[in-house]
Amino acid sequence: MNRKYRKTVIAANWKMNKTPSETKAFFTEFKNQMPKGRWCDIVVCVPAVDIPAAVRALRDTRVGVGAENCNANASGAYTGEIAVNMLVDAGCKYVIIGHSERRAMGETDADVNAKIHAALGANLIPIVCVGESLEQREAGITDEWITMQIKAALAGVAVEKIKKIVVAYEPIWAIGTGKTATPDQAEQVCQMIRTVIRKMYGAAIARGVSILYGGSMNEKNAEELLAQPDIDGGLIGGASLVSEKFVKIIEAANQPIA
Ligand code: PEP
Repeated sequence: MNRKYRKTVIAANWKMNKTPSETKAFFTEFKNQMPKGRWCDIVVCVPAVDIPAAVRALRDTRVGVGAENCNANASGAYTGEIAVNMLVDAGCKYVIIGHSERRAMGETDADVNAKIHAALGANLIPIVCVGESLEQREAGITDEWITMQIKAALAGVAVEKIKKIVVAYEPIWAIGTGKTATPDQAEQVCQMIRTVIRKMYGAAIARGVSILYGGSMNEKNAEELLAQPDIDGGLIGGASLVSEKFVKIIEAANQPIA
């Protein structure tokens, strides 16, 4: 983390978990446990049907609500899809874009780029996910792959918009597997992502972009990961479904930095 230049962001990705009633119950518990420190931004990205319950429950807090996906089109014949203006109207401030689980369902780099443009156009903060597979890591092409994903995702994004984007480095082999990247592995890629952004937008912009790590981050390993200079927070799946664990991760991000 480097709070001098950028925000620390702790974001939950609930994936396809919790009903609206369970969402309400979760936030009743979470609000009782939530740390009072104000050092990090807290975001919860929830299934679309849970957005109203999350927005209602978090109305008086500083926790931002996000969606897990969006459609790049403004409106029309896209059965089952949700446009960015609908998310904004429902109370969302964030949207996850390009999660590897959605890429595995067929989402392309071009789709990711179009969704980022749509989100930024609606004033939603995109949490843009990139990450390599185990095969790519073992083949030694992690840096090339992530560089390509970042360049494709940010194509055509104007310099004044880039400050709104949050990037999440999520090695696919670490998501939901219990296998966390070591702090060194995660830092190396997050630092490399910042270098790519620096080459695209300049040093001052790159210094201000929050880059999160995601992949089996939990209440036990969060502090060590967040101590890395280029890891500005976490995108958390499994551990964000249990209020106590999520709160402990927020507390790890709330530690004063020496
Ligand atoms: C995720 O879904 O983005 C994620 C990182 O999941 P988990 O924390 O469960 O690995």
